Amino acid sequence: MSHNFDYDYFVIGAGSGGVRSARIAASHGAKVGIAEGRFMGGTCVNIGCVPKKLMAYAADYHAHFEDAAGFGWSKETPSFDWSTLIKNKDIEIKRLNGIYKNLLGNADVTIHGDYASFIDEHTLKIGDETITADKILIATGGTPRLPDFGGAEHMIVSDDAFYLENLPEHVVIYGGGYIAVEFAHIFHGLGAKVSLIYRGDMFLRGFDDDIREHLYKEMQKQGVEFHFNTTIEHIEKSQQLNITLSNGKTITADEAMAAIGRVAKTDNLNPSAANVELNANGTIKTNDGYQTSTDNIYAVGDVTGRVELTPVAIKEGHWLADTMFGNIDRPAPSYDNIPTAVFSRPNIGTVGLSEAQARAQGHNITVYKSDFKPMVHTLSKRDERTFIKMIVDNKTDKVLGIHMVGLDSPEMLQGFGVAIKAGATKAIFDETIGIHPTSAEELVTMR
Ligand code: NDP
Repeated sequence: MSHNFDYDYFVIGAGSGGVRSARIAASHGAKVGIAEGRFMGGTCVNIGCVPKKLMAYAADYHAHFEDAAGFGWSKETPSFDWSTLIKNKDIEIKRLNGIYKNLLGNADVTIHGDYASFIDEHTLKIGDETITADKILIATGGTPRLPDFGGAEHMIVSDDAFYLENLPEHVVIYGGGYIAVEFAHIFHGLGAKVSLIYRGDMFLRGFDDDIREHLYKEMQKQGVEFHFNTTIEHIEKSQQLNITLSNGKTITADEAMAAIGRVAKTDNLNPSAANVELNANGTIKTNDGYQTSTDNIYAVGDVTGRVELTPVAIKEGHWLADTMFGNIDRPAPSYDNIPTAVFSRPNIGTVGLSEAQARAQGHNITVYKSDFKPMVHTLSKRDERTFIKMIVDNKTDKVLGIHMVGLDSPEMLQGFGVAIKAGATKAIFDETIGIHPTSAEELVTMR
């Protein structure tokens, strides 16, 4: 440990990766400080995973109320109040902000409530203060980006969607990734008309093709409007937004939301003062040990552009603190078989290789598929189907990928993710006794 610096370890950004790394380093005895200029918990807690999931729950109630009728419950659909949802969501986030602050305080991490920028590789300016640190972690995350056509300044991004004053009547969503699809579900479920504009021929590029197709059909049945192979040419604002599309159509909507990806947040950071190099896309360049071009400076999470997922940032920050301050020698986080979900309706849960990826990697595979009506909809009479797909390597019998669109699939896929990580074979799946009656049992009865 160095005695020449104010801190052994200073973390810039109190989001998922930064908070975990700071706490673990402090638990190993390091003197740790953290700077956060906006809100404790970062994107995930404030304008990401947490409020998104709460709002997706709210959207799901729409269908739950309708489905209840078939089970004998009253047919009247209750009304929805946007401001109650936003108010209650904000209360919950405030509670979580407090928990994050306490976690850091209890771990003896000193919090500096402002943005930090580099003066040199060991010195940071934070508001009016100047501090020095032996090692520094950049965990500043990312931020949504806007397209560059005329009128794009009239669009909102996901950050804004969590704080709208009213539920819009008609929302145009631009993009076909996680955020576009999840917000299409949220706005549609809460009662807005939704038009999703995507430049490619099927949304959720990178997911298994059958999964994309199945979710598309389900969302179409619900009434979400899709314009694929289409871009927005420009937006004009009068009372409403007039959105001109490349397919010749013009849509009039109350809000247009850009969900075309995120960029690394380095605007307050002044990384060049510490000779920290960036990649061409603005993310921080690191090696496999999360070290930047400057030896004592590290970076984890979204700002590195590796895998933009909270649990990944947490794993990276934790590993780094263990390695640097805990003398714990363990393999760096693995990026294989990361389970992931899309909180649409129905949900997507997925882990491992898609059929196309497995074939591209040269595996000789057997593909198992199951498409069925989940039991709840036998009485609800909702026209919604579950789809499950399993990819098995013929040579090793190992299950290479499981992909599912259906109620609760993220909950199921977390457990199946462990099985895939452990290298489970199809024979082991077959030997496993199902839990009856569930949708999950389909995964151990696929023939
Ligand atoms: P994504 O990268 O997932 O999707 C961006 C979408 O915008 C793609 O459909 C892309 O098209 C399209 N796009 C990109 N550039 C343009 C452009 N110039 N004009 C028109 N369309 C464009 O980004 P998101 O913003 O949806 O999410 C960011 C990340 O956050 C995700 O990748 C994910 O890692 C994480 N996330 C995870 C969630 C979860 O785990 N449930 C939820 C939300 C976010 P194309 O496919 O053709 O490139």
